[in-house]
Amino acid sequence: MSEDIETGITTGGRSGAFKDILSKDHARRGKPPLHFADMTDEQRIERAGELGLPRFRVKQLANHYFGRLDTNAEAFTDFPASKRSEVAEAFFPTLIEPMLVQKADEGTTIKTLWRLFDGSRIESVLMRYPNRATLCISSQVGCGMGCPFCATGKLGLTRNMSAGEILEQVRVAAIAMRDGKVAGGPGRLSNVVFMGMGEPMGNYRAVLAAVRQISAMPPEGFGISARNITVSTVGVVPGIRKLAAEGIPVRLAVSLHAPNDALRDELVPMNRRFNITQLLDAAHDYYLASKRRVSIEYALMRGINDQPVHARQLANRLNHYGDDWVHVNPIPLNPIEGSKWTASKPEDEREFLDILHRAGITATLRDTRGSDIDGACGQLAAKNQG
Ligand code: SF4
Repeated sequence: MSEDIETGITTGGRSGAFKDILSKDHARRGKPPLHFADMTDEQRIERAGELGLPRFRVKQLANHYFGRLDTNAEAFTDFPASKRSEVAEAFFPTLIEPMLVQKADEGTTIKTLWRLFDGSRIESVLMRYPNRATLCISSQVGCGMGCPFCATGKLGLTRNMSAGEILEQVRVAAIAMRDGKVAGGPGRLSNVVFMGMGEPMGNYRAVLAAVRQISAMPPEGFGISARNITVSTVGVVPGIRKLAAEGIPVRLAVSLHAPNDALRDELVPMNRRFNITQLLDAAHDYYLASKRRVSIEYALMRGINDQPVHARQLANRLNHYGDDWVHVNPIPLNPIEGSKWTASKPEDEREFLDILHRAGITATLRDTRGSDIDGACGQLAAKNQG
């Protein structure tokens, strides 16, 4: 098995402008330009040397990037003027450019569609709450999983994103918060969730490099605690086990969507490779290793997986491992237009939740934050736990 562990998940149904633009995405495959965030320290020092710059300059660049969130090397006054444009070119190529920005929830939810160097499109969503600001980011262009209820799955997987492309989403959101560009005044980006486009475990190496740099303190990283980072998976078991072995206390989120293998085989093709028992065994081991409760994401689909029998099956499967090791997030599905997969009735959602609660399972029905954004994605909007 390769370093990038199989394929995967995340953004669910979307419609409107975002969908149109995404589906016109005929991006060429290719590697993004190497960015400061993609380089090891040795590579940074070597590249600086090629420009005739001593190694202490690398520390200055890290301070600009991670400390001040600044990539405009032309304005780095602590660098010789004659070197600044070379530094910009060598370390800070433009990796993401905004194509479309949509706001909802009185400006506290901001969804951005980004264009990558090769024309690929990805998206991120910033959601501000009274006590935190969470950014949902993409780690792959498209998704290779092909879940039948999901628009993203229909796009297929175009390519993995680089660590730099992943980190740039975080840096721009951190600037927006710092500079008061999000309703509510200046603040701090506090949480990052890998629940945008892509299966994070399918791009393991870049995701891990990004996690390390998001969580390290400046000037090595952005200083967002690993405990406030969530990595999701649709069920790539080797990825879960590998992440557990890293010893980084990030939260794991498992997109389960079904409580038995017959149904999950239909809803989530990855289940045919790693079944629910294998998945929950790995998730529970992750809980034991990390001491972090695992999030279980469950998109409620009318008449498909939202009946009392499903809630009881789910509770039984989770309680099999003992108490209080998961937090279930049932999410009303954000349906694709014209699809047979649609959102549950509110009364079914409530009953589903009640059954989980009565079985002693911690569960919170997620509102679809940003649902008045054209093209809002039920899964994206729901991944806002902090
Ligand atoms: S729901 Fe399935 S197809 Fe859609 S993004 Fe998630 S894993 Fe991919």
